[in-house]
Amino acid sequence: MANGLGYSKPVNIAIDGPAGAGKSTLSKMLAARLGYIYADTGALYRAIGLFALRNGIDPSDADGVSALLCKTVIEIKFKDGSQHVYQSGEDVNALIRSPEVSMAASQVSAIPKVRAFLLGLQKDLAAKNNVVMDGRDIGTVVLPDAKIKIFLTASPEDRARRRYDEMIARGDTADYNKVLDDIKKRDAADSGRETAPLKPAEDSILVDTSGFELDKSLELLISIVKEHLT
Ligand code: C5P
Repeated sequence: MANGLGYSKPVNIAIDGPAGAGKSTLSKMLAARLGYIYADTGALYRAIGLFALRNGIDPSDADGVSALLCKTVIEIKFKDGSQHVYQSGEDVNALIRSPEVSMAASQVSAIPKVRAFLLGLQKDLAAKNNVVMDGRDIGTVVLPDAKIKIFLTASPEDRARRRYDEMIARGDTADYNKVLDDIKKRDAADSGRETAPLKPAEDSILVDTSGFELDKSLELLISIVKEHLT
């Protein structure tokens, strides 16, 4: 497939990093600038976390969650350029952003069978499309041959402040200290797990956005991408 850039295969950009680093907002904006698809892989783990909660299964129960996997189908579809995740045919996008589902997603994502279950779907998407894909193990496991790998991070306090502001802007109630505590817990769980722990790929570019406004982070990403795509 030609993609206008002289590459015969679709161009894949992997963006990994901890919770609240701005991955999804920045990846979405970057994808829009490039005319690529934006794939949010966290939403897939969230859909499985939600499925476990709905079935009364403890999201940290590896056997219980693994046994559930054959009872659902997870799909990604794009409507007007934005990603929707379907679980057993139901669009669950509006249900997967609560703090409870965030924690459940982090728990189910430590289960090897869950990661294996979602791997093909992610690889397939990237094989067929120019994509900016964000997650935790995109550069290390899902797309080890990605054209550009970025590891996006910021201090826990900056990340908690951004998450808190997002929640307030959505009209949710939020407690900054609780958000910070959740971020630190998820960092520890995501980095400490045995399967696909959160860590920068050796060939990734580290981008620390602590203290940056969104625009400045985006311009930085665009300049990195331009440099590596030309
Ligand atoms: O990115 P987001 O916060 O939506 O991800 C939810 C959870 O899913 C994360 O805390 C992480 O544990 C898990 N995740 C993962 N691998 C990915 C994407 C997300 O383990 N590629």
